[in-house]
Amino acid sequence: MARLPQLAVFDLDYTLWPFWVDTHVEPPFHKSRDGSVRDSNEKIIRLCPEVPNVLEHLHGLGVSIAAASRTSEIQGANQLLELFNLTQYFAHKEIYPGCKVTHFERLQQKSGIPYSEMIFFDDEKRNIIDVSKLGVTCIHVQSEMSLHTLTKGLETFAKS
Ligand SMILES: [Mg+2]
Repeated sequence: MARLPQLAVFDLDYTLWPFWVDTHVEPPFHKSRDGSVRDSNEKIIRLCPEVPNVLEHLHGLGVSIAAASRTSEIQGANQLLELFNLTQYFAHKEIYPGCKVTHFERLQQKSGIPYSEMIFFDDEKRNIIDVSKLGVTCIHVQSEMSLHTLTKGLETFAKS
């Protein structure tokens, strides 16, 4: 079997969901009677559709999962993870503005997992460039996070 990472780290905005939580939607969020997640203007908020399967698949493989986001809307981001029932998957969450090197330094300290055993998915090139320098296998998410992107990423990790 191919070598697996010990920790998979995900950006949030435009990686797990298709918007900026501090710009395009209006916190606080809630679950409405029809089961949809909505913002304070009753606008329906959606996840990238394959994200629950992506996280469930990694969980099944025994890979730990973390979030690393630079959003300033910290409460809203945590609330969305909760409302979409994703909090259960995340062993660690680093959600605050600033260079993602800080997020990864803290993830490394908290998890004890070396950078070489981590994989990171993010839509922004600047984060990929910063975090690559640590020795993390970084995957640039071109559209939204999908099972296909996960498979490709794990293949890249196995060859690293
Ligand atoms: Mg992003």
